[in-house]
Amino acid sequence: MSRIVMKFGGTSMAGVERIRAAATRAAAAREEGHEVAVVVSAMAGETDRLAGFCREIASVPSPSEYDVVVASGEQVTSGLLALTLQAMGCQARSWQGWQLPVRTDGTHGSARMSSIDTGALGAALTAGEIAVVPGFQGLSLDNRVTTLGRGGSDTSAVALAAALGADECRIYTDVEGVYTTDPRIVPRARKLDRIAFEEMLELASVGAKVLHTRSVELAMKHKVRLSVLSSFSDAPGTLVVDEDEIVESRVITGVAYNRNEAKVTVLGVPDRPGAVAEIFAPIAGAGINVDMIVQNIAHDTGRTDVTFTVPSTELPRALAVMEAAREAVGFGGVLSDVDVCKISVVGLGMRSHAGVALTMFEALGKRGINIQAISTSEIKISVLIAEEYLELAVRVLHTAYGLDVAG
Ligand code: ADP
Ligand code: ASP
Ligand code: MG
Repeated sequence: MSRIVMKFGGTSMAGVERIRAAATRAAAAREEGHEVAVVVSAMAGETDRLAGFCREIASVPSPSEYDVVVASGEQVTSGLLALTLQAMGCQARSWQGWQLPVRTDGTHGSARMSSIDTGALGAALTAGEIAVVPGFQGLSLDNRVTTLGRGGSDTSAVALAAALGADECRIYTDVEGVYTTDPRIVPRARKLDRIAFEEMLELASVGAKVLHTRSVELAMKHKVRLSVLSSFSDAPGTLVVDEDEIVESRVITGVAYNRNEAKVTVLGVPDRPGAVAEIFAPIAGAGINVDMIVQNIAHDTGRTDVTFTVPSTELPRALAVMEAAREAVGFGGVLSDVDVCKISVVGLGMRSHAGVALTMFEALGKRGINIQAISTSEIKISVLIAEEYLELAVRVLHTAYGLDVAG
């Protein structure tokens, strides 16, 4: 008999019928003799709806009260799923994040877990009960409700699997696994039987929202057997594995996109040591993550432009701190653009193949798509382009790297 954690996402919780389908899967796994813990998301759209109320009341809502509000979506679905299981004759109960508790730091809105007390829950599993745990929720050291960041229920599931010493963690979602790109944008995207942790981590961090980045990190660290499957079919899903378990050789494994990007250009930065540090110090001080950076070489003017990207949700704050620093640093002005997006290609094969970036630049160039910034890592190349070309660029790159399903 094994112990498994099954996680159901928002679409799989959207309404009583779908909750019943998820309950049927959990009950079937229990019938097969497994110990079953289920982690649930809020109903699709619910977290956005709750966040909307907060923003209607305050343009910058108190982070701790915001968490109280948005964490409630998962409380509802965990209770409904437990009720459904009970109605089906199963022994089941819900365990809220604060009841376990799931301990986190105090970074409201994007808290990091530090521990999960699974003592009582583990005993319930051993006794044959199905445990239903709301994802996304945590409790800070000063006993305030926290949340783990958007998409964070995947991370709750993997962390619970690690804490319970579970044999596997299955992420049930609205597609049949991890694809070579978002199948909603490219119908010819191919489902991957396996993907390496490193590739999945990179894809998630550049925008493939099928798994929350931190969930992949945790699974890799704690050696959790992690798979992605469909809630709506019995098709085999995708297993996330160590690199040496990948037999198929491929240069590029996937293409991802991120719309949540904004470009900031700082004009006329003095060309002297320390000027760039002075630009980024207030941005870092405000806790804003900078992603891509481009700096041109100054020619004879003694001044240059520095371009960088931040999440578009952070743009107003980034512009405010830049404006405040203008006089001290002595730059000319600031331009910004939110109509940009980042497209990335990821693959372990990049380490051993030359010309991967050239394929990308040529494919985009041929379609008249202009590249505004570039960044690379060992297994990833990202470009910043105008948002209007997002879908075209993803499709063109998917074809250029030979990822389209045949036929
Ligand atoms: P859930 O609510 O189940 O957590 P998400 O919406 O967070 O589901 O993630 C699933 C979605 O991720 C899919 O519907 C798909 O549109 C998107 N997605 C983006 N990139 C990929 C990819 N490479 N493979 C599969 N799905 C992807
Ligand atoms: N409900 C949360 C969200 O929409 C967490 C999750 O679904 O993973 O972001
Ligand atoms: Mg998700």
